[in-house]
Amino acid sequence: AKESGRNAYRFFNEHMNTDGRRRLQLQNGLRLAIEREELSVHYQPQIDLASGAITGAEALLRWTSREFGEIGPNIFIPLAEQSGLIHAIGEWVLLAACHQAELWRQHYPPGLTVAVNLSAQQFRRGDPVALIKRALAASGLPGELLELEITESMLISEADEVLGMLQRLKALGVRLAIDDFGTGYSSLSYLQRFPIDKLKIDQSFVRHIARNNDDAAIVDTIVQLGRILKLTTIAEGVEELQHASFLRAAGCNEAQGYLFGKPMPAAQFAELLARGDAT
Ligand code: C2E
Ligand code: CA
Ligand code: CA
Ligand code: CA
Repeated sequence: AKESGRNAYRFFNEHMNTDGRRRLQLQNGLRLAIEREELSVHYQPQIDLASGAITGAEALLRWTSREFGEIGPNIFIPLAEQSGLIHAIGEWVLLAACHQAELWRQHYPPGLTVAVNLSAQQFRRGDPVALIKRALAASGLPGELLELEITESMLISEADEVLGMLQRLKALGVRLAIDDFGTGYSSLSYLQRFPIDKLKIDQSFVRHIARNNDDAAIVDTIVQLGRILKLTTIAEGVEELQHASFLRAAGCNEAQGYLFGKPMPAAQFAELLARGDAT
């Protein structure tokens, strides 16, 4: 037993080393990714549930490394956050998304929004207000067409400082959405305190709404909460028609998910827009 314990320890250790080495390699690759033009942005349609019309898209970062192939954002975003690269990468994706949305504004029916994810790091160690100002100025996009997705955890730490930042962001016209809503800190008081516009219901609740009464009740409750607080509600991870029917009946405003379209390159999203709706 002692022997196998030691082996298990050694295995664990080597495993950690490999992970650590891999992490370092990826981080170095990521450092060069912008100048090597290995990053791209995919756009996933967001749908008005009542009309079926496309209201906009979420911008989702993609990394195709010449060394490592496709690396998912669940891998490289945390690496970018740990290394500080998130500031350069975050600015790159924001600018790309704003330029894209400005093109849509010139070619398609007005009002299409683009939603961009912001990391907590970009708030804690950056100047998000200056960042957003630069992106809006460089692209010409009106602030009203930019939505920022932030997480509940950002509203908890250094709340007073964050409140000031969010108020200045609101003054630029941008909209603020809470991503992965329902999975984070459970105090709801911040919904009144912070200038939030939209709740994004996490896909873990959406997935089983047709079969699981608890998840259905949670989604129902979030939609009602949104109605009372005058916040737009959007459900993510909508994969099946049944999901969409349930959400529509519950009064959820918008939906996003594979049912309507996977994240796709801008050219493909333009084809979807040209067709008029996503169904
Ligand atoms: P997220 O912001 O919660 O994004 C939603 C994720 O769900 C995306 O994964 C999307 O492709 C996926 N998804 C959309 N519809 C469905 C569906 O119907 N079913 C299922 N199973 N999944 C669906 P993705 O693109 O791999 O991104 C993962 C996470 O990486 C994002 O989660 C976000 O936290 C982060 N991320 C992606 N791009 C950026 C970025 O530009 N900046 C920052 N800070 N984070 C980003
Ligand atoms: Ca998001
Ligand atoms: Ca999410
Ligand atoms: Ca997530």
